Amino acid sequence: MGKVLISGGGRCNVTNTISDPKQLVKNYPRGFDKLQPCFERFSSDDTQQWFEDRGVRLKTESDGRVFPVSDDSSSIADTLQREAHRLKVKINYKTRAVGFEPQGDQWLIKTNLNDVVADLLVIATGGSPAIWKALEKLDLNIVAPVPSLFTFHAKHKLLEDLAGISFPNATVKILTTKTDQSGPILITHEGISGPAVLKLSAWAARELHELNYKCVIRVNWLGIDAKQLKAAIVNEQETNPKKHVINRPVMDIPKRFWQRVCELSDITKNRNYAEIGKKQIAKLTELLLNCDLTISGKSTNKDEFVTAGGVDLDEIDFDTFAVKKYKNLFMAGEVLNIDAVTGGFNFQAAWTGGWIIGKQVVG
Ligand SMILES: Cc1cc2nc3c(=O)[nH]c(=O)nc-3n(C[C@H](O)[C@H](O)[C@H](O)COP(=O)(O)OP(=O)(O)OC[C@H]3O[C@@H](n4cnc5c(N)ncnc54)[C@H](O)[C@@H]3O)c2cc1C
Repeated sequence: MGKVLISGGGRCNVTNTISDPKQLVKNYPRGFDKLQPCFERFSSDDTQQWFEDRGVRLKTESDGRVFPVSDDSSSIADTLQREAHRLKVKINYKTRAVGFEPQGDQWLIKTNLNDVVADLLVIATGGSPAIWKALEKLDLNIVAPVPSLFTFHAKHKLLEDLAGISFPNATVKILTTKTDQSGPILITHEGISGPAVLKLSAWAARELHELNYKCVIRVNWLGIDAKQLKAAIVNEQETNPKKHVINRPVMDIPKRFWQRVCELSDITKNRNYAEIGKKQIAKLTELLLNCDLTISGKSTNKDEFVTAGGVDLDEIDFDTFAVKKYKNLFMAGEVLNIDAVTGGFNFQAAWTGGWIIGKQVVG
């Protein structure tokens, strides 16, 4: 691991509490089929143990993300550096690898400063286009990189001036491909964000790239079906027929959002529950459960930026993370075509690969 990037305001979401390999792999749109046996050997609980054994106190948030108690990513970076120092690892700062050539069983590493001959080469350069280019020269197949983990731009009357309103159990679906995800969703100034959106952007990273980030996304803000919504409205009609609809949201819908939904469903301010008919209920249902948003682009997720793509996983022997075509060449982390949804899983894949290579080459 070369560096620890800062996220979540510099806190570093170092891993996740999900440690059962079968469950853990479900968070990897690319890599899930290869990583399970690797996680059997070094999973997220091993990561926690590794850092705790070296004095880093960790805490778990309610959603399973694990952070240093210090809420400071330097606790993680400093620990890695201390450990490297203890093991007498020499770090050549300001040295950029520019190319690699096999020389018998050894490797010639060309850098911006000098050439180095190594008995063994581990490449963990993250999402570096220059390194992928250099690796193509070694006849390794590189899956073209595309962004993953992003938020969507969308304009709709329903969203105007409502940035900050969130829904805990929404579902989002790309209409053409039918790919969908569930979870919390947040209205932003530019469109929509939140875990469900980020998961969709990761699982559909390639399809969305092909669509040039222009498509229609169907949002079910409540994650329920029309029957459940109708039952809630009928219940209000029976128990509160004289109450103004606009003032009594059903299903704990945030009030400002409900008022907007009512406006767009032709439910005027003074309309009470007894006065709304089939047509208005149908419009409410459409806006709440089948709301089609035209996506016009994307924004980078500020917490965690990840690329889908990299060295084709068929090039790698996942028993050791060795490159099959060459002797004494290993790779781990984001240089490989592995990436995860947000939650500490991207680091976990890097820790696991790094640990397995370490075991293989040092013991
Ligand atoms: C802002 C941000 C926040 C993030 N937060 C989180 C998070 O909280 N939790 C999480 O799980 N994931 C997070 N990620 C993703 C996570 O950082 C990566 O998945 C992970 O760091 C990948 O590890 P890696 O070792 O493969 O690559 P990196 O950590 O990117 O390390 C690559 C290293 O190689 C060096 N390098 C590159 N090219 C060369 C070269 N030619 N010669 C020599 N050295 C080179 C780089 O300088 C760097 O030090 C975040 C990403 C970003 C951008």
